[in-house]
Amino acid sequence: MILGPRLEYHQLPSTPGVEVCMLLILQPDSTEQTGEALLSELRGAGLDGQMVADRPRRVIRLRGTPHSIEWLQGLPGVLHVVPAQRPFHLSLKENPDQKTTIRIADHTIGGSEPTIIAGPCAVEDDTDLIAMARALKRSGAHLLRGGAYKPRSSPYDFQGLGREGLELLAEAGREAGLPIITEAVDERTLDEIREVTHVVQVGARNMHNYALLKRVGAAGLPVFLKRGFAATLEEFLLAAEYLLEHGNTQVMLCERGIRTFSDHSRFTLDLSIVPRLQELSHLPVFVDPSHASGRRRSVSALAKAAIAAGADGVMVEVHPNPDTARCDGPQSLEPAAFELLADQIRSLAAVRDGQGETVP
Ligand code: PEP
Ligand code: MN
Repeated sequence: MILGPRLEYHQLPSTPGVEVCMLLILQPDSTEQTGEALLSELRGAGLDGQMVADRPRRVIRLRGTPHSIEWLQGLPGVLHVVPAQRPFHLSLKENPDQKTTIRIADHTIGGSEPTIIAGPCAVEDDTDLIAMARALKRSGAHLLRGGAYKPRSSPYDFQGLGREGLELLAEAGREAGLPIITEAVDERTLDEIREVTHVVQVGARNMHNYALLKRVGAAGLPVFLKRGFAATLEEFLLAAEYLLEHGNTQVMLCERGIRTFSDHSRFTLDLSIVPRLQELSHLPVFVDPSHASGRRRSVSALAKAAIAAGADGVMVEVHPNPDTARCDGPQSLEPAAFELLADQIRSLAAVRDGQGETVP
C-alpha cells in the first residue's frame, strides 16, 4: 500500500540534478527581515526562493537542490521544511505550542486530562449495553464506542446490527450520560450515523478512502481517524489533511497497530509514532491497544505505555462477557479490568505532566 516514492523529511531524492520544490515554514515570530535574510542566504547557496504571498504565516517556496534538509532546517527562522509536492500544511504545527482541543460534552480532548474511549467492538442485541455504559462512565470513560457497521476481514463474520445498533448505542449513551463514537464504513452509513453520533470514526481500512474522507471532512462532526495498517506517517497525515482541507478542524489521530513480520500479536503497536506526531502535528493523538495487540492480557500494559509516550488518550474495547462477544472478544477487557486501567491512566498522566508523585 506504499503510494509511490516518498520524500522523507531527513533525505532528498537521490537522483542527481532533480529539482526539488519545498516549502520552508518560518517561525511565527519571524519578520520581513528574517525572510529577506533567509532568501539571500538561499540565493548564496544557488537556490531560488520566493515568499508565498497569500498565507497567514510566512512561507518560502524553494526550488533547487539543497545539500541537505538538516541544513535548511537549521537556518535561522525556519520552523519546518515541507516537500511541496506532498503538502500537509493544515495538520502541521505552526509553532511548537499549537494544539487543537476538541470539546465534547463536558470534556476537552487534547487538554490536560487524558481522554478515555471505551466500549464493545460491535453493538450486540443480547448484551445490556446500558448497564455497561453506566459502569464505564462510573470508571471515568469520556466516550462510549461501539460499531453498528463493522468492516470485517471475512464476509461471513458478523457485520454489525446496522441501524438497530445505532439506536442501541445512542440510547446507551443517553442513559449513561456518555457521548458516542461509531464508524462510518462508507458514504451511505455516514449519512445514517451523523444523525446520532458525536464523533465519526474512520477505520484503518478506510484511511485511504479519499472519497469518504472528503465527505466526512464536510460532515461537520469531530472525526477519529485511525492509521491504516500499512500507512506511513506521511500518508496518515495526508489522510488527516483531506479532512482538514474539507473544512473539518476537529480531527483526532489514532495509532492502532501496523503490519510487521512480528507474529506474537495481531498487529505491532507503533508507539514511536506518538511523540513524532505530537512533535509535528497539533491534532490530538490516540492509541488503540486493543486492535494493536489482539490480546486482552497485553491491552492494559500497552495503554499505559501509550500514555507514558505522550498520547492524549486511548480507545479500549470492553465487553461485559468477552467470551461470548460476537466480535473481538479475545482483545476486550472486562469492566473490572477497565476500571483499574482507567485509574492507572489518570495517575500516569498526572506523573507524566508533572502533577503526581508515583507511577502506578
Ligand atoms: C474498530 O475500532 O472497531 C476497528 C475496526 O478498528 P480498526 O479500523 O483500527 O481495525
Ligand atoms: Mn474491534
